[in-house]
Amino acid sequence: MKFSEVVGQQHIRTKLMSMAAAEKVPHALMFLGPEGNGNLAMALATAQYIQCENRTEEDSCGECSSCTKNQKFIHPDVHFTFPVIRLEKKPSPPVSADYIVEWRSALHQNAYLSYNDWMQAIDAENKQGNITAEECRQIIHQLSLKTYESGYKIQIIWLAEYLALTGNILLKSLEEPPPNTIFILLAENSDQILSTILSRVQIIKIGQIDDDDIKLALQQRFEMDDAAAKRIARIADGNFNAALSMADGEENANDKVLRNWFLFCFNLKQKPSSENTKGLVDWIEEFAKTGRENQKIFLKYALFFLRECAMISMMGKSEKLDGEELAFATKFSKLLQTEQLEATSKILNRMYYHIERNANPKILFLSNSFKIASVFRNEEVLVD
Ligand SMILES: [Zn+2]
Repeated sequence: MKFSEVVGQQHIRTKLMSMAAAEKVPHALMFLGPEGNGNLAMALATAQYIQCENRTEEDSCGECSSCTKNQKFIHPDVHFTFPVIRLEKKPSPPVSADYIVEWRSALHQNAYLSYNDWMQAIDAENKQGNITAEECRQIIHQLSLKTYESGYKIQIIWLAEYLALTGNILLKSLEEPPPNTIFILLAENSDQILSTILSRVQIIKIGQIDDDDIKLALQQRFEMDDAAAKRIARIADGNFNAALSMADGEENANDKVLRNWFLFCFNLKQKPSSENTKGLVDWIEEFAKTGRENQKIFLKYALFFLRECAMISMMGKSEKLDGEELAFATKFSKLLQTEQLEATSKILNRMYYHIERNANPKILFLSNSFKIASVFRNEEVLVD
């Protein structure tokens, strides 16, 4: 991947290119930042740039034999480690090499993929991914061999959180790697990583992607009009992977759908009559037909909406809403306390988690609508 294909994060790209041009890339790097920020895309671009035969100050060339291999994720001196699950047919612990075909195909589709996307790509169902001790020993072995082609061997470890305690096996290599070796660890949460690892890597923090950069990237990829790209970018909240799934789905009438849902929840709170319950049940019946991907997008939208309501409560304004949406958010933020907005967001986050894991949407939305109604009900207690 070329740096020009990385979405936004211009200052990080410039920093990495100047480090590489000056031959000053640290032997153990960690890109640290939230899901969808492009940690992995940045690592792919960095590896390609370091190994490019004709790189310039601007980017790798994308055409030399080294770039060609990197673009297919088959460069013999770039090694990938990522969480995997146990193979049914293989008794020994799984290693990344067992899944390299699926991995390359997933990267071709989307280098911004999340852990859950990856687990789905390898049909993990409810199994937990893991980076095994066997994998760590293979890393050490591979890096002890001499390079095949380029000056550098590069070991990319995606989601270093999944190393857990087995990360101890790598400590010595991280501290004193074999010559011409660069480790690039990628992580979202530093608190899930051994401090002994953190102290041996140079951390580069990569934050959320700017809305404008997401908007631009969507327009380039999907020939999307300005308003649609802007709408998706603000809901994605710096996560390009979320933006991509919204661009694939239908993110359009979610504001009206959400308004109706919250109104039913409000009505339930005031008058839990059979009529109100029926209204909610009908809404859920309709909503359940929209399919899982759209339900995820809807929940993302709802979370975005609540964030903006919290902004209105705290700062008195929202930068991202206008028109009817703003009017509703302003009204809504007056009806609820910040704690209630937070409690509702928590419920929605849990719902997202369950929808991703194939929960039944009807049951999930029904039971959680009552939970949300009781969060809304607290407001009376608090206000009165
Ligand atoms: Zn090149």
